[in-house]
Amino acid sequence: MNTNTLPHIVILGAGFGGLTAAKRLKSAPVRITLIDRHNYHLFQPLLYQVAIAGLIPSQVAYPVRTIFRRQKNLTFQMGEVTAIDFDSRYVKMDGSVIAYDYLILAAGGQTNFFGIESVEKNAFYIKDIESAIKMRNHLLSMFERASREADSDKRRAMLTFVIVGGGPTGVEIAGALAELISHVLKKEYRELDVREARVLLLEAGNALIASYPDELRLATHRLLRKKNVEVTFNAQLIDYNGQRVALADGTQIESNTLIWTAGVKAAEVVETLGVQRAGSGQVRSEATLQLPNHPEVYVVGDAAYLEDGNGLPLPMLSTVAIQQGNVVAENIRRAVKGLTQKPFHYKDPGLLATIGRNAAVARIWGLSFSGFIAWMIWVGLHIYRIIGFRNQLVVLINWAWEYFFYDNQVRLITGE
Ligand SMILES: Cc1cc2nc3c(=O)[nH]c(=O)nc-3n(C[C@H](O)[C@H](O)[C@H](O)COP(=O)(O)OP(=O)(O)OC[C@H]3O[C@@H](n4cnc5c(N)ncnc54)[C@H](O)[C@@H]3O)c2cc1C
Repeated sequence: MNTNTLPHIVILGAGFGGLTAAKRLKSAPVRITLIDRHNYHLFQPLLYQVAIAGLIPSQVAYPVRTIFRRQKNLTFQMGEVTAIDFDSRYVKMDGSVIAYDYLILAAGGQTNFFGIESVEKNAFYIKDIESAIKMRNHLLSMFERASREADSDKRRAMLTFVIVGGGPTGVEIAGALAELISHVLKKEYRELDVREARVLLLEAGNALIASYPDELRLATHRLLRKKNVEVTFNAQLIDYNGQRVALADGTQIESNTLIWTAGVKAAEVVETLGVQRAGSGQVRSEATLQLPNHPEVYVVGDAAYLEDGNGLPLPMLSTVAIQQGNVVAENIRRAVKGLTQKPFHYKDPGLLATIGRNAAVARIWGLSFSGFIAWMIWVGLHIYRIIGFRNQLVVLINWAWEYFFYDNQVRLITGE
């Protein structure tokens, strides 16, 4: 069969949405070109574990070519897409042009600093492997430097870790960092009084993990306090020069570390498209996930803006991206056959956030769990979702080791 005559699907992004759609089109009569700037799929929900020295990058990322080595109708191209011409139906990648019959825009999101330039310049954030390793190097270096710093003010600034944003990522980093300090570093920096170390979590609103039910928000606060995380509400950051955090109410905090988890917006490439955008700069799509006026273009995941039945925007979560990837694959199969398109309806699988070893909060099947049971659910689910048997096994062994021996294995400061 001459496969060149088959419809050509270009998928921009090998994240949760793009990967799901690509897999789902495995047996479809189409040719697929999957493009990503990285040669790996990244399991972002566990990226914070790289930043706090719990896992190494290869345990949370998997080569795209390995994932698809048996999928005959797919080729992968590593490169940066810089422009899309919707009228002429092609994407521009690293100077070359790739034409499509159908396009799946699954470019994901990026950190949103809300225009606070000093934060963008001086804060740490996690979005990719590079940023997570940079954060890990910095956190561990602070302990090294503090261990030989005689000036107590300077030492305290090195050991004060400020996290901005009380969403799931901020909560997870705060809990894990507090434990790294109290369980692991305490044993190894005998020359330091690690009681000088502080983990501060600043939230601009009046609640942590705001989208969760009351009982879980309170449980999260309680669990963090138990781990000595200092939580401050209504704390609006206005400036950070690398040494000092300034809040709108005049408070100043001396700190060499600011970790920014307070915002996400659609990927950079989306900003160049000249399409209608909404929410966090995402592409406004039809209920069928098609681009208005361009039915051959589909948008999924963090790059897409769609509202649920109550008129609220769908959250920027992997579960949304995965479900949308499935529906888009189905809709492309239908389009190829000349059938009508199906609208997307999000099925909320529940909420889950971990707050360090032994502690998490979960809302599943209408029930709320917190503490150890929720943590076991979190461990089980994340092991199940990581790609690749080897990765699953290694992560499980790593977590078991940490659990029984209170020891983060990956405390390396590398040259990056
Ligand atoms: C630290 C962190 C923790 C998170 N924790 C959770 C969690 O616990 N649970 C949950 O459900 N969700 C979580 N999320 C959100 C979740 O990861 C996203 O909602 C999900 O990844 C969105 O999937 P996506 O396919 O839209 O985009 P992504 O998975 O981000 O994939 C987009 C892909 O597009 C590629 N790309 C972008 N632009 C270009 C370009 N111009 N050229 C080439 N390639 C490009 C990127 O390299 C990337 O591989 C977390 C996110 C982060 C950052």
